Formats: sequence, structure tokens, C-alpha cells
Amino acid sequence: MTCSLERMEEKIKTFSKFGDTGRGGITRFSLSEEALAARAEFVKRMEAIGAIVVTDDMANMYATIPGEEDLPAIYSGSHMDSVRQGGNYDGILGVLTAMEAAETIVKEKIPHRHPITVVVWTNEEGARFEPAMMSSGVICGKFDKDTMLASAAKDIPGYTFGEALDASGYKGEEKNRITPEKCTALVELHIEQGPVLEAEKVDIGIVEGVCGMINYEFTLSGQAGHAGTTPMPYRRDALYAAAKTIQYLHDELDKLDKKLVYTTGKISCHPNIHTIIPDEVKFTLDARHQDPEVIKQVLEIIESFPPVIEKCELTYEKAWSRNTVTFTPELVSIVEKSAKEYGYLGRRIYSGPGHDAQFMIDMVPATMIFVPSIGGHSHCEIEYTPVENCYKGANVLLRTLLYIDETK
Ligand SMILES: [Zn+2]
Repeated sequence: MTCSLERMEEKIKTFSKFGDTGRGGITRFSLSEEALAARAEFVKRMEAIGAIVVTDDMANMYATIPGEEDLPAIYSGSHMDSVRQGGNYDGILGVLTAMEAAETIVKEKIPHRHPITVVVWTNEEGARFEPAMMSSGVICGKFDKDTMLASAAKDIPGYTFGEALDASGYKGEEKNRITPEKCTALVELHIEQGPVLEAEKVDIGIVEGVCGMINYEFTLSGQAGHAGTTPMPYRRDALYAAAKTIQYLHDELDKLDKKLVYTTGKISCHPNIHTIIPDEVKFTLDARHQDPEVIKQVLEIIESFPPVIEKCELTYEKAWSRNTVTFTPELVSIVEKSAKEYGYLGRRIYSGPGHDAQFMIDMVPATMIFVPSIGGHSHCEIEYTPVENCYKGANVLLRTLLYIDETK
């Protein structure tokens, strides 16, 4: 029992047109014209295979193929929106593989007791309206709906998410939201967005959970002065102190578990003028690991800093954090078994990035399937997953949905 490679390829090609940048990628902001065109194509195709499509009050879409029995549905899907100049696989592949699995079930007349619902989440990227994973977050009670409706668009001044929602034609009723009563399980397929699966020649990532993370902002405060007149011993150079701090962080964090990843991705220097000694430098530290114990060790390193580095005061504060999320072990095992059945090489993995499924797990049994990203590239136009990998992912998803259907 397999999906169709040709159909998979055609789906990827067709949906890559919505927001095509002409350079191999897409810009498809949530609820933009391009995103609405992708939604219309989704609805058309799902209705063509007999699905009933409804939307909820956050414009999340649910396309359901009825089952033989009146049971809670099995859900699969992801998001259709992208970052600016993003790729053709992030998010959308989870929708397309779920569509392909559903189409295979219908066309091959595969019996199933549960309804199968393909879900599309609104505004996962947060590229146009912050925050990321907005609509799954509202449904799970992580975000306040009114605050989200007021979220301002980054591309049109004064335009809010609520206004875009009203104008979209996809705003439905709150009663259509996914709830624990309506859902047997949820499976989200996604590209890995990292290099591990490709490097290890693995076909399928069996996702056990999502790494916990912390994000801290550090500030070094020194004294501004003239670059030509202040002798070196008199200086309190905040940028030099920040460089020392970052170097120290790297040296210490490298001693921790090898799976720890950490990044200083943002830095600001004041006044940022070549003739002035910097008096204030801010930088961030993002650290991620699946084991909360390792995250604790990162914190201990941060807390062990002296208050003064190279004569500059060091302060820091937590910007935000996320606890490690563990997916439903039974579902994780089903994905593993499904991959084995096709003879695909699977590997257990934790996700570094956040995904809608990580919010949904608070509400319903959930797990994820990863497929390789070539070169680990994502959120860019060269993001690529060969169609054979997409096809293998669709097969594992199909088998997983059917196993859930048999056992639940
Ligand atoms: Zn995504």
C-alpha cells in the first residue's frame, strides 16, 4: 500500500506556484493573496475527493473524509504560510503529504473506521503577524485571542490580523475548532530543517519531541569616549567586554552535552560609530536541548558570571523559554513501525524548531514525522527535499494513519 510518487510531485509543483519568487522559493505570508490562492486550491482538491471542508474562527481549515464509524477523527497536516523568500517544503509538505495520504485512501478504497481530517493551521510562521504558531496557540489556550486579532501586519501599516481574517473569507465558527473529543490523534509531517537526517542517510525522522529552549539577553555597560584620545588602560569598552563574554560562553557551553545547540544571533552596539568607544552592547543567547537538566546547566553557567567583565557591568535577563515537549510514545512507536514496514531507515530525533504539533500535544495525542532537508537549509529559497523523500514520508504517514485507525 503506497501513495503515488507522480501525484506527490504534481502537488509540490502546483503549490510552489502560490507566492513563487522566481528564484526557486516562495513568499507566502499568512492570509496574503498568495496564501488565499493556495487555500482555494486545497479546498478544491479536498472537495474533489469527497472531503467536507470547514474552517474555525482562526481560519484553520479542516477537510474531513468520513469514516465507517462515528469516531473521533485522525488529524494530519501543517501550515501553508512561509517566511519572506522561504522554500517550497516548510509546512506545506505536511499539508501535501496529508492530502496525498487522504487521496490514496479514497482512490484505493482503503477501509477506515475513523474520519480522516487534513488540517491547515493559520499563521504558523508569524512572519507577517507575530507570534509564530498563532492559531494553534489560540486553540490550545497558549495565546489570548483578542490580543492575537490585534496583532499588526508587518507589510501593511495599521492592518491587523483580525482585519485580514475578516477579509479572507476563511473565518469560520469557533465550534469547528479541533477539540480533544473530536480527535483520536494528530500526526504532523515536516521537513527536518537541519542537516542530521541527510548526513546520516536516514529516510525518516521519528520525532520524539521538541527541544526545550531558553533565550537570554545580555547587556554590557561601559563608558563612551573618543577613539583617538582615550589610552587603552582608561577604557571601559562594552563591545570588547561583550566579545569576552561570548567567548567565555562558547568555551563553557562546549563542555556540556554534545547535543546542546546555542546561538548568539542578535547583537547591538551603541553608539555604533567608528570613532567612539562603545558604551552599551546587547546580545542574545538562544540555547536548546531535549534534556531539561542540560538547560539547567546552561543557566548555571549564565548565573556564574561575575557582575563586572573587563570593567563593564554585566546584566542579563530572560527573554523567553520553552519547556521540552514529549510526543505521545505510542504514536512515536507507530511511526517507527511504519517506516520499518517499507524498509526505510528511521532514526529517533528531537526537533529544534517549534511546530504546531508541539502546542497540540497539550490537548490531543500527537507526534511528528521528519523527512531530510538537503544541506539542512530551511527558511530560504534553496530549501529542498527530493520528491523520493517526500514520497517516503507520505507512505509512512499513510501507514501511520492506518495503524492508528486499526488500534484506536
Ligand atoms: Zn514549518
